[in-house]
Amino acid sequence: MKPMDIGVMMGVGENPLERLQRVKAMEVPTVQMGAPGEDFMTGQPLADLKAAIKQTGIEVTTVFCGFPGEHYADIPTVRRTVGLVPPATRADRLERTQRISDFARSLGVDSISMHIGFVPEDPANPGYAEVVKAAQQVCDYCAKQGQSFRLETGQETGECLKRFIENVARPNLGVNFDPANMILYGSGEPIAALELVGKHVQGVHCKDGKWPTEKDQLGHEVPLGQGEVGIERFVQTLWKVGYRGALTIEREISGEQQLQDIMAAKKLLEGIRAKVMGAG
Ligand code: MG
Repeated sequence: MKPMDIGVMMGVGENPLERLQRVKAMEVPTVQMGAPGEDFMTGQPLADLKAAIKQTGIEVTTVFCGFPGEHYADIPTVRRTVGLVPPATRADRLERTQRISDFARSLGVDSISMHIGFVPEDPANPGYAEVVKAAQQVCDYCAKQGQSFRLETGQETGECLKRFIENVARPNLGVNFDPANMILYGSGEPIAALELVGKHVQGVHCKDGKWPTEKDQLGHEVPLGQGEVGIERFVQTLWKVGYRGALTIEREISGEQQLQDIMAAKKLLEGIRAKVMGAG
């Protein structure tokens, strides 16, 4: 792929092949693919998916891990249910993560990504060491497959994320930087956080949002360019810190409006990219 090629976050739903055709119709050259259900990860469905990817010419830049039982309704729910942080589901989820890594390797994809959950802010919290260990286990499994493991941002501050990366201490640990999540979760100004962890950024979500106004509630996601990220400055900063990966659009609504917003985001990003790359 070319530097800063446009991408889209593609949930696979019930029919990954149909989703791929929709991305093809949008003339978007890359996707981040949500991990499908177990049925699609092996055998004939996997072979069909591989053939469809090849036929469309779309590059899959990462496979996103998701787990049954995760819910994003509000901040306490996210704390309780998301990623590798909740102890009760951790072992099962680590196993599914390995299957997702295998699946990604079958597709020739060199990374997996995940919302790891709310990492405790205080490293002295006993839960902190457990999450560090879980991340190390994923990194070590991915390393054997020639893959990196990318942490989706948002649920922690830039400082916390930087310390966590240092404590996990694995060269194949990277970041999928979603600036809108920092706003939606009230985790701090995203561009400052990007400057802090810039060298670790291997993927991004181009998404926009507005700060939360009530305790424990998330802020509101809005179409790209209409929120408080400062999307032009975001892309400029990515370029400045040396990021050359895809600009992957994420719009977490569905239906016709999602398609319209993605197409508008693509146009916006193409304009910004021309300016940023043109300026060297
Ligand atoms: Mg995201």
